[in-house]
Amino acid sequence: MSTAALPALHPLLKDFLSRKTHKLLIDGAPADAASGQTFATLNPADGSLLGTVAEGGAADVDRAVAAARKALTGPWSELSPAQRERVLHKAADLLEARAEAFAQLEVLDNGKPIREAKNGDLPLAVGLLRYFAGWPTKIHGETTPVSVPYFPGAKFLHYTVREPVGVVGAIIPWNFPLLMAVERLAPALACGNAVVLKPAEQTPLSALWLGELLLEAGVPPGVVNVVPGFGPTAGAAIAGHMGVDKVTFTGSTEVGREVVKASAGNMKRVTMELGGKSPNIVFADADLEAAAKGIFMGIFYNQGQCCSAGSRVFIERPAYEKMLAALAERAKSVRQGDPMDPKTHMGPLVSAEQRNRVLSYIEKGKKEGAKLLSGGAPAEGPGYFVQPTVFGDVRDEMAIAREEIFGPVVAVMPFDTLDEAVARANSTDYGLVSAVWTKDVKKAHQMAQKIKAGTVWINCYHFVDAAAPWGGVKQSGYGREKGHWAIENYTAVKSVWVDLN
Ligand code: ADP
Repeated sequence: MSTAALPALHPLLKDFLSRKTHKLLIDGAPADAASGQTFATLNPADGSLLGTVAEGGAADVDRAVAAARKALTGPWSELSPAQRERVLHKAADLLEARAEAFAQLEVLDNGKPIREAKNGDLPLAVGLLRYFAGWPTKIHGETTPVSVPYFPGAKFLHYTVREPVGVVGAIIPWNFPLLMAVERLAPALACGNAVVLKPAEQTPLSALWLGELLLEAGVPPGVVNVVPGFGPTAGAAIAGHMGVDKVTFTGSTEVGREVVKASAGNMKRVTMELGGKSPNIVFADADLEAAAKGIFMGIFYNQGQCCSAGSRVFIERPAYEKMLAALAERAKSVRQGDPMDPKTHMGPLVSAEQRNRVLSYIEKGKKEGAKLLSGGAPAEGPGYFVQPTVFGDVRDEMAIAREEIFGPVVAVMPFDTLDEAVARANSTDYGLVSAVWTKDVKKAHQMAQKIKAGTVWINCYHFVDAAAPWGGVKQSGYGREKGHWAIENYTAVKSVWVDLN
C-alpha cells in the first residue's frame, strides 16, 4: 500500500461533502424522503462514512414522476433545438471546469483510482454532453412517398416527426456512477425528455451533484429528478411506474429480467445493458506485448468492475505459456493503494459485499483446480481490496469461466484452432463485448463476423466513444446506448398524413 501524501480535496467538493446529509432532487429542489429514512454511503478505501443520503422510495418516485410529467409541458418544451444545444454545452463546460472535484468524488464514493476517474470517467462524461449537444438541431423526420391503392391518383403529403418519448426512468449501477448518469441524461435531454434517475445505492453522490449542475446549466426544474434509493424499492417503483414511458437500465441480467417484467404494466419501452463474460482472444501471430497490455487493461480496469471486462482470455497454444507468465508478472507489479493517490493503479472494490463475492469466486477457482498464478487474496488495509488475480489452465465448465465475477479475476485458457476459439467464445449466455488480437487481417475480420457480441475490438480493448453504439446481444441485453442509436431510443416516431386532394 502506498502512503504518499495525497492531493487536497477540491474546495467545491469539500463544500459539497460538508452537507453531510444529501437530499433527493425533485422538481429542482432538495427534498427529504417521504419516509424520512436515510442510508449511509461509505468510502470503500477505508470503510469510513462519506455521507448520509435520503432514501427514496415509491412515494418519492411518484413525486419525481409527477414533476417530470409536468416539466414535459413546461418551459422545457418551449426551448428551441438550438437552446437545448446551448444548455447541454453549458453543462459540458461546467462539468469540465469541475472535473477535478467530480473525479475526486467518484474516487471517494466508488474507490476507483483517481488516474482513471480523471483520464477516463470525466473526459468521457464531458464528451457525451458535447456529442449529444450537437443532436437537438439534427433530429428530424422524413417525407415519405405514400400510395393508397383504393384511391388511385390521390395525392397525400406524408411526413414523420420525432418526438420525445416522455418521462425516462434511468436505473444505473455503481461502477461508473457519473458516466452512466451522463450517458443516459445527455441523449434523453437532447431529445427533449424529462428524467427520473436512480443512481446505485453504493454510489449516489455524483448523480445528485450532477443534477444540481444541470439546473445551473439551465435545465428547468423537474426535467431531471434524482432519487437515490435501493433497487427493490426505488428501482422497482420506477420500473413499474405507469407514468414512466421508457426505462433505461444497466445492471445485472437477473435484475434486468425483473425490470422487463415490471415494464409490461404500461408497455414502457426498455433498453437493457446487462452482464457479460467477455472473451479476449489472442492468436500467436499477434503483437504479444500489446496483447498482454490489452488483456491486462481489459480485466483490471476499474478493478474488474466493468460489464465489459475481458474475463475469459483465450490464447493460442504456441503463445500460451509465455503470455500466462507475462500476465502473472504484470499482475504482481500492480500498485494497489489509496485510490486518491495519483500513483495508484488499483483501488478497492466498491463494497464489502462485492469484495466477499469476488473472494468466494477465487475460492471456487482454487477448489475447481484452476492454476493460481498471482493474487488470490484480499490485499492489506482496511478497505475492500482484492489483489489482481490471474488463473491459468481454466476449463470452460468452471464457475470462474462461466459466471460474471465483476472483479479483478481473469480466467486464462489455451486454444488450438480459430473455429474452436469461436465456439468456446460464443459458448456463453452473454454477448456484450469481445476482442481479437492478431496481425492477420483476414483472421481478424473472420472473427469479427463470427463472434456473437455487441462490440468486437480488434487489437485493442475498452475503447468507447459517444458516437459508437454500446449494448449487447443474448442475455447481455438489447437496445443500444450512444450515437444516433440512442436518439432512436429516446424519441418516438409520429406519422402525419395530409390529404391534398
Ligand atoms: P449490480 O450487480 O451491478 O449491483 P444490480 O442489477 O443489482 O447490479 O443493480 C443495478 C441497479 O439496479 C442499481 O441501481 C440497483 O439499485 C437497481 N436495482 C436492483 N434491484 C432492482 C429491482 N428489483 N428493480 C429495479 N431496480 C433494481
